[in-house]
Amino acid sequence: MRIYKFGGASVKDAEGVRNLARVLQATGTDKTFLVVSAMGKMTNAMEAVVDAYFDEKDAVTAALESVEAFHLEILRELFPSESHPVYLKLKALFNEVRGFLAWNKSPKYAFVYDQVVGYGELLSTLIISEYLNQEGIANSLLDIRRYIKTDANYRDVSVDWKKTQEAISGLAGSRELYVTQGFLGSDENNFTTTLGREGSDYTAAIIAYCLNAESVTIWKDVPGVLNADPRYFKETRLLNRISYREAIELAFYGATVIHPKTLQPLQRKEIPLHVKSFIKPSDPGTQVGKGMAIEPRTPCFILKKDQVLMKLSSLDFSFIVEDNISEIFKLLHDYKMKVDLIQNSAISFSVCFDNRFGRLPELLQHLKGKYRVKHQEGVSLYTIRHFDTRAIESILNGGDVLLEQRGKETVQYVIKS
Ligand code: ADP
Ligand code: ASP
Ligand code: MG
Repeated sequence: MRIYKFGGASVKDAEGVRNLARVLQATGTDKTFLVVSAMGKMTNAMEAVVDAYFDEKDAVTAALESVEAFHLEILRELFPSESHPVYLKLKALFNEVRGFLAWNKSPKYAFVYDQVVGYGELLSTLIISEYLNQEGIANSLLDIRRYIKTDANYRDVSVDWKKTQEAISGLAGSRELYVTQGFLGSDENNFTTTLGREGSDYTAAIIAYCLNAESVTIWKDVPGVLNADPRYFKETRLLNRISYREAIELAFYGATVIHPKTLQPLQRKEIPLHVKSFIKPSDPGTQVGKGMAIEPRTPCFILKKDQVLMKLSSLDFSFIVEDNISEIFKLLHDYKMKVDLIQNSAISFSVCFDNRFGRLPELLQHLKGKYRVKHQEGVSLYTIRHFDTRAIESILNGGDVLLEQRGKETVQYVIKS
């Protein structure tokens, strides 16, 4: 089977949905599994609903209405007859969210988040499945929550591979075109869970792994994996071929074109990954596979904005060694910080991280009793793989370097932005 993943950018409006259908018509639909994200920025919009629920209950209605209006506008373009059953199905989904919010008793943000935010994907897949049927592209809409089983660490779950494998393998060998949601799973009580922001690529990889798929294609608004994010770098080059290892490194350092968790399941079964343009589907894009030397060999740049640089030193000149470091790491983990870079000397320890869930004040509070703590927010982390002098000069450009770390293939700079 082939797994196709279409992200939010590819289905941000009615034209995006029509384009998706054209891509399928051009590439065929036999034995294809379509994984789709929420449309456009709808995950952010659903996050706003959850925030309103916790901070300003009166604003929930308006926040949900704007999500509904966005989807209704797309429906009106795609299904001119208002008697089409998709209208009632869409309404039923909104009634479900409203019902959940009205009856929910849980005060837990992460739990409520997962129950609500996942509707972005349920709405997009409903619309896409119905539209494809209307266009004569027969398909079955699957609720991925029945197949991907996870723990209950809401917003950042781990997959229960054994249960997931058992559930998905029933679909192996089918010739049908399936349409399903990215990003979602369910826990053992069948509550919805989410795999972390941008997790739909990972969904595609999980399905591919469990079905021993022949390939995964993620369709993007860029020609493939480039040597830098075109939003931040002027001149970029398409990487025609890269190894799983290179792709994992790029994703790990923050190249947001592929979710970092995606590569490992694919690499374990050597399932080829293609990253292609949904605008020019016949272009070759990037191929990711085993042992493929990077081609062309060129420096690759990754920028992570809005990171935190924290420097800890001991209060009494004692060494910062294994036991302190393990304690510091435990705290970084407990407050769900995503560590980018560490550096230590005898009496100090510097760490650059992503304050993903906004828990920096709690972390600082915790550390201040034991260490002298200095921190700087809003710093940028530049990573260059396969660096050379020119590449380094091009990013330093007189910037204020706060920390440098250099390995054989990779150099990183924390820069005050
Ligand atoms: P999706 O719609 O699948 O969620 P994303 O917007 O998350 O798509 O990912 C595509 C974007 O990733 C591109 O528009 C580009 O700005 C960004 N990007 C970051 N790093 C790279 C890279 N190395 N190559 C290509 N695109 C990149
Ligand atoms: N819709 C989710 C998000 O925006 C998952 C994804 O798009 O991959 O984070
Ligand atoms: Mg995305």
